[in-house]
Amino acid sequence: MIKVSKFGGSSVADAGQFKKVRDIVRADPDRLYVVVSASGKRFADDNKITDLLLLVNAHIAYHVDCSSLLKDIEDRFVAIAEELGVKYPVSEKFEEFASVIKSLSPEYIVSRGEWFTARLMAEYLGLPFLDAADVIVFHHDGSVDMERTQIRLRDAAVRLGRFVLPGFYGATVDGTIKLFKRGGGDITGAIVARCLDATVYENWTDVSGFLSADPRIVDNPRTIHRITFDEMRELSYMGASVLQEEAIFPVREVGIPIQIKNTNQPEKRGTIIRETAEDNEREHLITGIAGRKNFMAVHIQKAHMSNKVGFLRRALTIFERYGISIEHVPTGVDSFGVVVNGADVKDTIYSIVNDLQQELKPDVINVVDQLALISVVGRNMNRRAGTSGRIFGALGEAGVNIRMITQSSQEISIIMGVNNSDFDHAINVIYQTFVEGEMVDMPSEGITQ
Ligand code: ASP
Repeated sequence: MIKVSKFGGSSVADAGQFKKVRDIVRADPDRLYVVVSASGKRFADDNKITDLLLLVNAHIAYHVDCSSLLKDIEDRFVAIAEELGVKYPVSEKFEEFASVIKSLSPEYIVSRGEWFTARLMAEYLGLPFLDAADVIVFHHDGSVDMERTQIRLRDAAVRLGRFVLPGFYGATVDGTIKLFKRGGGDITGAIVARCLDATVYENWTDVSGFLSADPRIVDNPRTIHRITFDEMRELSYMGASVLQEEAIFPVREVGIPIQIKNTNQPEKRGTIIRETAEDNEREHLITGIAGRKNFMAVHIQKAHMSNKVGFLRRALTIFERYGISIEHVPTGVDSFGVVVNGADVKDTIYSIVNDLQQELKPDVINVVDQLALISVVGRNMNRRAGTSGRIFGALGEAGVNIRMITQSSQEISIIMGVNNSDFDHAINVIYQTFVEGEMVDMPSEGITQ
């Protein structure tokens, strides 16, 4: 087995977290390749090193002295090195970096967060350090040159056997440092897993996996132990997120599963994400519930619309004209709705409605705002009749008015629109009807994780 183990910012936030990482890496000899983010927050109102480095860039751009900020960053690395007894001369190296900071590119400066963290981690684990600038190759347009990256990573793996690699950055062939999007350490880990044919891509973070609902809304929601890539995409789109979205593609394409694990509770099962989720345990009907508020729906009704060719297209073209991305289009026989993100249309909604009126001459047009969308996701829903009936029944009994309904084409999700003000209540009602009701005969671990 080959495991790529990526540790996020909170997993490497201080010396105590470094120790946990060491225990995890030592516990399994298959954990050959370690990827780290820059040290993240140690407590709620702490700062991530990456944010501090971005702030350094802003100081430089506005010609404001940043020496005390640099000192704070240095102190964090020094504290880790001292507490762990790591020999690496971090203070000296950091001061070298700080002394030439004005000559460095903003991306280079930000990349030093992961660079120093990985340096210290490599020393502490007694593993070779591999600089991402030498192996993660970017094209000039910012995309990854997967072929070159694979050759270089394979070469490094043969040469070094094991390594610790900083996430989040790489370089073009001429050596210019480039960053991924925020949270991009996840992408680095996925690329390493793909290029080195990992059996699994472990993503170590500070939660015990993907939760079946937002814990700010539902009390102590169940952890999802197994989820498919499609289900995860639906839930992430609706706001549930643990992983950087773009980290999925490199591994998904080659069939490598992703395992989300908690550095602070490594004994928990976490969540495994795969293409299909065949398993022998009892399957849940609903995998998860997620949602977002503040959508707007424009409803259009016109008699005999169903016979008019191109009517819907003309309506959608008007939204396109204003550069608005459409979320959903629930349709009836002589009516349809166009659901968009409220913030996207806040300045243009009157013009859009005006154009719709002029060009389509509908019988009725109305705008519903303050709409929340809730997506109930479950790969098993398509096998069981009556799921939507149960959802709508439960919501009806709880006095929640459903303002629109759509179902995804593979039938793995049902999406409902409710008033913003009903959002939390509706999610709790659905959770209690399905997830909690099912919990009764689940293995006990399913409840506590
Ligand atoms: N350090 C970067 C960030 O804070 C990348 C990462 O953590 O994955 O966004």
